[in-house]
Amino acid sequence: MSAPAEEAGSWRARARRFAEQELRPRAEEIDRQDRLPREVAEGLAREGFLGLGIPEAWGGRGGGATALVGVLEELARGSAAVAVELAVHLSVCAQPILTAGSDELRRSYLPRLARGELLGAFALTEPGAGSDAAGLRTRYRRTEDGFELSGTKMFTSNGASAGVVVLFATRDPALGGHGISAFVAPSGAPGLSVAQRLAKLGLHGSETTELVLDRVRLPAGALLGQEGDGLRIALTALTGGRVGIASCALGVARAALDEMLRQVRRDDADWKRQLLARAYAEVEGAAALVAEAARRKDLGLDYLLQASAAKLLASRAAVATASAGLDLAAPLGARSGAEAERLYRDARVFPIVEGTTEIQELILARALLESPDGSSV
Ligand SMILES: Cc1cc2nc3c(=O)[nH]c(=O)nc-3n(C[C@H](O)[C@H](O)[C@H](O)COP(=O)(O)OP(=O)(O)OC[C@H]3O[C@@H](n4cnc5c(N)ncnc54)[C@H](O)[C@@H]3O)c2cc1C
Repeated sequence: MSAPAEEAGSWRARARRFAEQELRPRAEEIDRQDRLPREVAEGLAREGFLGLGIPEAWGGRGGGATALVGVLEELARGSAAVAVELAVHLSVCAQPILTAGSDELRRSYLPRLARGELLGAFALTEPGAGSDAAGLRTRYRRTEDGFELSGTKMFTSNGASAGVVVLFATRDPALGGHGISAFVAPSGAPGLSVAQRLAKLGLHGSETTELVLDRVRLPAGALLGQEGDGLRIALTALTGGRVGIASCALGVARAALDEMLRQVRRDDADWKRQLLARAYAEVEGAAALVAEAARRKDLGLDYLLQASAAKLLASRAAVATASAGLDLAAPLGARSGAEAERLYRDARVFPIVEGTTEIQELILARALLESPDGSSV
């Protein structure tokens, strides 16, 4: 085994152990209370998961995309909410700071994100702009010494607990995508507040919030990349983020498959065996694509197609497997608090978050048609 593969294997084993010991026994409690216990957050920091993918030079634990997808899948097998919190923290907060941030921004935030002193968030979506991110309305204007931002952000994961938020705003909505810039804001910036915590179908325990920006003043150094780079930074982060979210969906699908196997071992009627076999094939197909997207990312190859296909198929596998699991476990499994019921609710969120299934289809079709020979590479 090569050193990176060995390293990824040991990260996965560590995450599996953590999920078995710390998450699975608490998954029902996390779902019911819609909160992550403090010990879980401390455990994520202690195990080094919060510094994955952040180079050691910036205070992180290193590790590539293959290590990350293994960790997220295993954590999601124990609790999807915990895995999604970590995916957002790493893929769409730490990564854009690492790849587009100045050394000053990296120095200020990456070591603290890696140690778990700060949790990261990413605020792109708005009440009137989700799939069409270029249509966002949060405005910024230049001031003497920096920028002033005003607007509303919707569905910001980790929003209430985050210590740092990667924010997107436009100089002028008439400029479309070209007017958008990205900023890094400490959550304590005056004028930045959590308007509400949104209750939702699944992924309870993963905070989803509405943020209000009321003339938030940021220094010039808070700009991520150059002015006008914001949409490109967001889309790059989301491509990586999709591989992470696909891994979380895969973990939920595997948890549902584990539960189905337990059921069918007790009663192996033909129709139940058939559901189990179908679910297995769905899950392994998605797993192969997630691994391929991560492998290409680690090699520095283009992985846009694989990321979108993995997100699309893994979230579909999660919904299909959790739905079949619910059929097998019914009627008891449909009670509130039953594992099959929770997995089904958690699974159903994945086709929406970080770009819906329809948006993945649009990305895939566009990329395929634009590639010179129509191939998928
Ligand atoms: C649990 C959760 C966590 C989230 N966390 C974050 C976060 O941390 N940060 C963040 O910025 N956002 C976050 N989001 C927002 C998420 O990324 C958006 O919900 C998603 O991008 C869809 O946007 P929308 O909800 O505005 O739906 P819309 O864009 O209004 O879409 C509504 C429906 O229309 C379809 N549709 C839209 N445009 C097209 C088209 N051109 N062709 C075909 N169909 C189309 C969509 O697929 C969808 O089914 C989160 C959402 C959820 C549910």
